Order: sequence, then structure tokens, then C-alpha cells
Amino acid sequence: MKLQRVSGRAFARIAEGDSIYDGWGANQGFLTTREGNMVVDTGFTARAAKGLLHDVRAKSSAPIRLVVNSHDHSDHVFGNSVFGKVSSCIVAHANCRSRLLELGRERIVGYRNFDTRLRSALLGLRIHPAQLTYEDGMDFTLGETTVKLIHPKDGAHTTGDTMVLIPEEKVLFAGDVVWVDYHPNLEDANIEGWIRALEAISKMDVDYVVPGHGPVSDKSCVAPLARYLRDYDRRFRSLVRDGVPRQELAKELEIAGTDEWSLKMIVGRNVDALYERYRASEPSR
Ligand SMILES: [Zn+2]
Repeated sequence: MKLQRVSGRAFARIAEGDSIYDGWGANQGFLTTREGNMVVDTGFTARAAKGLLHDVRAKSSAPIRLVVNSHDHSDHVFGNSVFGKVSSCIVAHANCRSRLLELGRERIVGYRNFDTRLRSALLGLRIHPAQLTYEDGMDFTLGETTVKLIHPKDGAHTTGDTMVLIPEEKVLFAGDVVWVDYHPNLEDANIEGWIRALEAISKMDVDYVVPGHGPVSDKSCVAPLARYLRDYDRRFRSLVRDGVPRQELAKELEIAGTDEWSLKMIVGRNVDALYERYRASEPSR
């Protein structure tokens, strides 16, 4: 992970690989203030979570007041238990907490059984859902800094996404609503809602967007992702309508301009996750 100052007091930890052992390239972030610090996402492995804690403490001796989970996917929340002991509170959208309660244990057991390297990377971690939840949106003040938690209400990357806006710093921690130069994970997506969420970001008064995966960017980074989602959705529909066999879909769904994007392995997984949904809505002829 590479620690980067995004603006005055907002920092990002940017992943340097996209393998399972790198948490598929999931980033984290944090904000420091005189009265305490806020962390956004806690990483997949014990090393990522402990590295994040180390970086926060290197930048500020104030306590960690709040940890925000951007959504329930393992690469963003498995580190929660490391922060359970050192922060006042973990906050998430209500759907993020309920999905983690429902699916988290099964997921962590599955990953522990993946191989011995991953088992040791996850050593000591346990599922630790948020204690504080919200439904529509939430503002809070830390030091003198206002922080806004924004939930795309129609669903975007998941049904429980949170984006963290720090207006004073003109920074948005977008979680997995934004992927830059990475193929996005679409398995829990509402693509129409997601495109609307990206349009909303493009209208925000922000200079920096920290994506869930990929480098820190400005808000122009949402356009290629919105294009990708539109193309993907349109093509998936027409391929299913034309009766193209499932095993050929990943190849047919290669979207122009994405050759250099990381996390190519997710393309096939997305097809597996979405195929039945598209087939139900677009019967083949
Ligand atoms: Zn995700």
C-alpha cells in the first residue's frame, strides 16, 4: 500500500496489486483532525488493517473516533476487528451492516479455506459489523470539519454503499462506487442506480476522488466508468437476447478501452453473478 496525502488532512492508502492477497487492490483512507480521526474502510488482510492503523498513528496522536465502512464486501471490512479495539465506533449504512451479519462469517470461512497463504493473511481477523447505522444520509462534525455520509438511494455497487464527502477538503472517498483503471465488481450492482450515483458525483464540488480501487483522481474519472456500465449493460442484454452461450459472454463483453485495466479476473465472475438476472429480464429468441 502506498500512503498519499490527498489534501490538507485527508489521506489515502492506495493498493499496489490486484490479486486476492492484495485485497483485489482495495484502497483505504483517513481524515485527521485535532479532536480525532476518521478511517474509511479497513482492508482485507490483517496486514492491510494494521498498516492502516500504523499510518493513522504516524500522522496523528489523536484518537480514532470513527471508522466508516463504504460497503459490506470483504476487501473493505475484514479489517474492522482490528479497529474495534482502538476506535470509538464503526458506522455504515444499515444494509451494509445487515449484509455483513448475514454473509460475513461464511465469506471469511471460505477465504480461510482458499489456501494457506490467505489463511495466514487473515489470521486474527473476525467479522465485526458496524455498531452505528443510518438510512438516508448522515452528517457529523469532527474537530471543526464536517463530514457527510452519502448513500446512493437506488443502490449502486451494492444496496448499502456509503460515500464520504469532506466538503472543506473537497475530497470524496467514493468506496466502490468509483473504480479507476480497474474492472468493477458488478455482482451486487444496480447498474441504473450506479450510473445516477456517478452523475451525482460529477456535479459535486470536489477536487479529489479516492476510488475504492485505483489511483486518486479528479471527478472526471467517473465518465469512463459510467460509459463502461452503459456499454456493459446494453451488450449483456443484446447477447442474452441473441442466445449467445454463457461461456462465450466474458469474451464478448470485452469493453473497448479497458485492455490495460486491472482485475481482469472479475469479468468472468461478473458474468456468473449476473447471467440469470439478465436472462430473466431478456428472454432469448
Ligand atoms: Zn466492493
